[in-house]
Amino acid sequence: MKHSNIFVFIETVNQKAKPVSWELMAKARELSEKLEGSEVWGVLLGNELDEVCKEAIARGADKVLYVKNSELNEYINYKYQKVLVDMVKKYKPEIFLIGATLEGRELAGMIATELKTGLTADCTGLDIIPEKELLAMTRPTFGGNLMATIFCPEHVPQMATVRPGVMKELPPDFKRAGEIIVEEYQMPEVEKLIEVLESIPVKSGSNLQYAPVVISGGNGVGGPEGFKMLRKLADLLGGEVGASRAAVKKGWVPYEYQVGQTGKTIRPVLYIACGISGAIQHIVGIKESDIIVAINKDENAPIFEVADMGIVGDLHKVVPALIEIIENKLKSGARK
Ligand SMILES: Cc1cc2nc3c(=O)[nH]c(=O)nc-3n(C[C@H](O)[C@H](O)[C@H](O)COP(=O)(O)OP(=O)(O)OC[C@H]3O[C@@H](n4cnc5c(N)ncnc54)[C@H](O)[C@@H]3O)c2cc1C
Repeated sequence: MKHSNIFVFIETVNQKAKPVSWELMAKARELSEKLEGSEVWGVLLGNELDEVCKEAIARGADKVLYVKNSELNEYINYKYQKVLVDMVKKYKPEIFLIGATLEGRELAGMIATELKTGLTADCTGLDIIPEKELLAMTRPTFGGNLMATIFCPEHVPQMATVRPGVMKELPPDFKRAGEIIVEEYQMPEVEKLIEVLESIPVKSGSNLQYAPVVISGGNGVGGPEGFKMLRKLADLLGGEVGASRAAVKKGWVPYEYQVGQTGKTIRPVLYIACGISGAIQHIVGIKESDIIVAINKDENAPIFEVADMGIVGDLHKVVPALIEIIENKLKSGARK
């Protein structure tokens, strides 16, 4: 019997799924339509995850494999590896998708080597070649100058990690039907290799990928002071602050803020680029935004080629003016 099911790893933190899990779920649904007789399985590990199970079905899973064990409540790589390798051996999925978060990247590599199968990291595109039931995994390579489409024809599961923010999640539909399989898993006694002593939350920039509005600053901002002004604008619009690599390199903001090829890929409703020239390595991280606004004093800056709206001017004048207009509007009763 052929198992052409798709596993989607649902990464959770504090009993909540990371949004990338739902992005992958939506993609898996699309892929599954091209794979006759296939099902989408959400796979999650831990305990007290009943709500996440329900949401997984609402987000597109046909089945949810819930490996229930309090030892799996927090991410420990070798434990997760052991469980997921066992689940793959038991349920034999054809495709296994994992979000390319820090944990996901590590985990995927550990699973693929154990199963001796192929893994494409950090994909930006996934498709199915229906005649062959093959997953076409596309990812940028050579610094984004070449898009490579990679296949894994001889080994299963075909594994891919996908960058958060690249794919679009489906809105939850709590009327969808699905099955939850609770796997009572006995964790074998293994040597304790890792012990988590403390978790220190990352604050700055951590919400960048999921913020509806991002106000980014580049070299043109001129220093860390300028970023305070961008923060003010972001707060007024209910958004986050981002940055170009130039601004990060100068130490004006931490790396968590960086948007682009070697930073985060984002898809906000509104992206405002302030004093950013628009190098291709920056653009690849923002091009999926719904509306791009550029503020730059050089009318020939390449950012204007991708911008839906442009303001040619000094950002140190334009941004305070925008702040003032928005503050006045909010005062007169406008909603955020
Ligand atoms: C392998 C590789 C990976 C990279 N990854 C990334 C990445 O992930 N993200 C990224 O951003 N870059 C990345 N880069 C760097 C990228 O090529 C650019 O160097 C960088 O994006 C430039 O940043 P910038 O636009 O802020 O600075 P600049 O190119 O210096 O542009 C500054 C802009 O600000 C304007 N300006 C100046 N003063 C003002 C003012 N007062 N008001 C309004 N406008 C003003 C200028 O006209 C100019 O257009 C990468 C490069 C390489 C080689």
